[in-house]
Amino acid sequence: MTQQQYVTEALILSVRDMGEADRLAVVFSREHGKLSAAAYGARRPRSRLAGSVQSFSLVEVSLMPGRNLETIGQCEVKRSFRELRDDITLMTYAAFLAELVSELWPDRSPEPSAYDVLLGSFTLLLERNPRLVSLAGAWQLLALAGFHPEYERCVTCGQVLALPAFFDACAGGGVCPACEHSELQPLDDAVCGFIDKLLNVNWKQPPQFKVTGATLLQAEKMLIEFIAHRIERPLKSVRFIQMMKGTERLEER
Ligand SMILES: [Zn+2]
Repeated sequence: MTQQQYVTEALILSVRDMGEADRLAVVFSREHGKLSAAAYGARRPRSRLAGSVQSFSLVEVSLMPGRNLETIGQCEVKRSFRELRDDITLMTYAAFLAELVSELWPDRSPEPSAYDVLLGSFTLLLERNPRLVSLAGAWQLLALAGFHPEYERCVTCGQVLALPAFFDACAGGGVCPACEHSELQPLDDAVCGFIDKLLNVNWKQPPQFKVTGATLLQAEKMLIEFIAHRIERPLKSVRFIQMMKGTERLEER
């Protein structure tokens, strides 16, 4: 039985070398979800695929189904997002979001909303403060995967949560002072309001953010802890982001 080649719009989540002259790409198709695809010969200088199969690019790609891997036939770049590869800060945030998508969804699980969040994030990373953009993208991806942080009610006793309270990343949300246990970080109005705003960012008409450094740090810390308890293995990109933190500015740009 011959299988049908198909064409799909996709974001390339990651690319690595494979074999002598090939590349292995993980692509995130709007209609088909995450797929691993081989770009045979893509490391040969004259390959048609050499310039187009690159991390973070928005492409229209033709794929031939295979047993384990799809094979990339043609790959037309619709938007290269080259800046996301050329700038180390932007690359780190883009890699973080791409890795998060990779970990949150299995292969061949179509997630058009997640696709739109990732495309919106990549676009806005070039225009706004990348730290805020990646934070909004990550919280939204987690929520789409079913990991919405709970801060209406105490996750331990179920009582309506009065703020300030505490955040229990392991339990997935806020806990009241009566249920608080060792060394939970505080959860206040400012950070809940900020995360709400991030979760509701409209990628076509993004709002301007005003946030204090303390609230931003708190929201980032919550995100990192939340991810650590929701995803089985640690994300490679998280440690790298933490290393870069000292050198960045907090202001909106
Ligand atoms: Zn409680």
